[in-house]
Amino acid sequence: MDEIYSWMDDVKQGNPELVSSAVYGHTVEARNITLLKLGLKNPEGREKKVIWMDCGIHAREWISPAFCQWFVKEIVQSYKTNEKLKQMLQNLDIYVTPVINVDGYIFTWANDSTRLWRKSRCLPPEGSSCYGVDLNRNFNANWGTVGVSFDSCALTYCGKSAGSEPEAEAVMDFVGKMIDQTVLFLTIHSAGQLILLPYGHPEIYAPNYNELVSVGKKAAEEMKKVHGMNYTVGTSPQILYANSGSSRDWARLSGIPFSYTFELRDKGEFSHLLPEEQIQPACEEAYAGALSIITYVHNKAFNNSTLPNAAVITVSGVALKIWSTMMVLFLTTGVLV
Ligand SMILES: [Zn+2]
Repeated sequence: MDEIYSWMDDVKQGNPELVSSAVYGHTVEARNITLLKLGLKNPEGREKKVIWMDCGIHAREWISPAFCQWFVKEIVQSYKTNEKLKQMLQNLDIYVTPVINVDGYIFTWANDSTRLWRKSRCLPPEGSSCYGVDLNRNFNANWGTVGVSFDSCALTYCGKSAGSEPEAEAVMDFVGKMIDQTVLFLTIHSAGQLILLPYGHPEIYAPNYNELVSVGKKAAEEMKKVHGMNYTVGTSPQILYANSGSSRDWARLSGIPFSYTFELRDKGEFSHLLPEEQIQPACEEAYAGALSIITYVHNKAFNNSTLPNAAVITVSGVALKIWSTMMVLFLTTGVLV
């Protein structure tokens, strides 16, 4: 984590026209949650749109913080010579948080026995000896309804209430203040090689579902071109498991039209212990996927098309029963990502 912080300082100091930083929250152990903002001055003084990207909300998913750093590096290295990228950075500000769950991430580096820690490091609730909340179950999005546990010792413990955890609250506060300008929310996880779209709750779907799927599939095609890896696109109940309280769902429910979770490599062979030699190729393909989505939303936003505003369409309770059954089946066999 110290290396990441010092790299963030370096990249900011080396590229002052493009990169700035901000501390927008603190962890339960009082560490800074810091982002990098990438954006060029708009030559016509036009209002910019916002893209959000975060990594490292689940502590053990080490490929995720690696990707946020890779993403920033690629942008910094190429924007001067890539005219399209330069144009996009004049229209968009891209906010990148390399590590949200700083306490958890540091904990996973402590020793082998803590390497697979997933949650935050908040103190156990009264009567329990178990630390931590699953921060990606703590957002204010159908909080506590499906795919969570209220047992503080469980990996999917969703916390005392929606937004009870300062790490989740920091994201909701910061992004919440710029919802109207924000056109894309990307949150990076591992593993499974999936591109997940809203919603994790099986009873609702996004009104722009078809567009979310087609944009996701285009990204998966671009990712496959890089190293031949297959990424599957769909909602979480369709291709992984139902859940609630995720940041992706919160973003779409709040009115951000495009919202995705990337589950990076692999498909289960190494899972969260992805070998070192796969770090760079995993980042290269994910960059192609992210850039594909960013380009689409940029072009849409700046060709005066209307973006969808409504957040929820409700489907029948029958669907919920089917998905709930599938979720139960999954929870007996699956790996949490
Ligand atoms: Zn995850």
